[in-house]
Amino acid sequence: MSLPPCPKCSSEYTYEDGSQLVCPECAHEWSADGASAEAGDDTKVIKDAVGNTLQDGDTVTVIKDLKVKGSSLVVKVGTKVKNIRLVDGDHDIDCKIDGIGAMKLKSEFVKKG
Ligand SMILES: [Zn+2]
Repeated sequence: MSLPPCPKCSSEYTYEDGSQLVCPECAHEWSADGASAEAGDDTKVIKDAVGNTLQDGDTVTVIKDLKVKGSSLVVKVGTKVKNIRLVDGDHDIDCKIDGIGAMKLKSEFVKKG
């Protein structure tokens, strides 16, 4: 059985500690199966309240009454939101809601479909 060298210092004296790999020379620890996937994967995955991965163009359902910032409007639980766009930030979904207009939602308050 051969273990991959340390990604930090290239030491070949790595050993396994449970599901982790450990380097005795620089004390770096990493996950054996995540090591290669981690590189080059800088795409942020945005998930809904139950863990489904969301994508641009998806339709989601609001699972909680949400107050619209700066107005007295409320997006009611059960509201369908079509054609979402994922964005960076605290509110990671950009969308347009009938009767309200363009607004931003948090992915944790929606469910895909
Ligand atoms: Zn090392």
